[in-house]
Amino acid sequence: MRFIEIKDCYKVYKNGVAAIAGLNLNINKGEFVFVIGASGSGKSTLIKMLYREEKPTKGIVEIGGINVGKLRNRTVYKLRRKLGIVFQDFKLLPKLTVYENVAFALECLGMKGSEIRPKVIKALDHVGLKDKLRSFPNELSGGEQQRVCIARAIVNNPKLLICDEPTGNLDPKTSKGIMEVLDTINKELGTTIIMATHDKEIVNRMKKRVIVLDSGVLSEDHEKGRYKASESI
Ligand code: ADP
Repeated sequence: MRFIEIKDCYKVYKNGVAAIAGLNLNINKGEFVFVIGASGSGKSTLIKMLYREEKPTKGIVEIGGINVGKLRNRTVYKLRRKLGIVFQDFKLLPKLTVYENVAFALECLGMKGSEIRPKVIKALDHVGLKDKLRSFPNELSGGEQQRVCIARAIVNNPKLLICDEPTGNLDPKTSKGIMEVLDTINKELGTTIIMATHDKEIVNRMKKRVIVLDSGVLSEDHEKGRYKASESI
């Protein structure tokens, strides 16, 4: 079933740069998709349009029936509730414990403590950190901190998980563990995952769909793809 539809999409920044220049892309529910491409090819812009940090200049970006470009600022929350985001830098709140960092997202939605607790425990269980809930971010390794971020991103059971270079700051072994967590979330929860990455090893090992951007357009789209042979990416 089609979940994300991007049609004739353009994003031209104020300085005249067309970061996305006629992109067409469909993603089905439950897919795991890597987005790769040279620096400046438009990956971040695509990711930002998915969570409506940027609006398309022209064309359509639709997620689960929501026309993202048409959302007004005060209704963006309707989209953001449906998705989780994981960034390269962890963005955890340093003064809150692991539990509180994950619970915070639900508190912001006005959920009660009794409703929040089982969800937070379940999310931390998914990332293998149930025994660290009282720790503070600075007491965790980089890989553990990224797991907390993943727990925070999935705690409200989003349909879509967007990951922007989630392993960019991690060593290969830790990255492998993070990818195993993401793979399990995709398989067990059915969460659609879109991940922008430069990590050749990960892309080659995972054998998922690979989309290649080049100057803001889709240049390649492979089921069970590999990283491009070209080392310039
Ligand atoms: P990637 O993530 O693949 O490196 P980006 O989406 O960041 O690509 O950038 C695509 C193009 O858009 C680049 O030429 C970049 O300089 C330009 N660009 C990105 N963000 C902005 C911005 N906020 N304003 C102007 N130009 C931008």
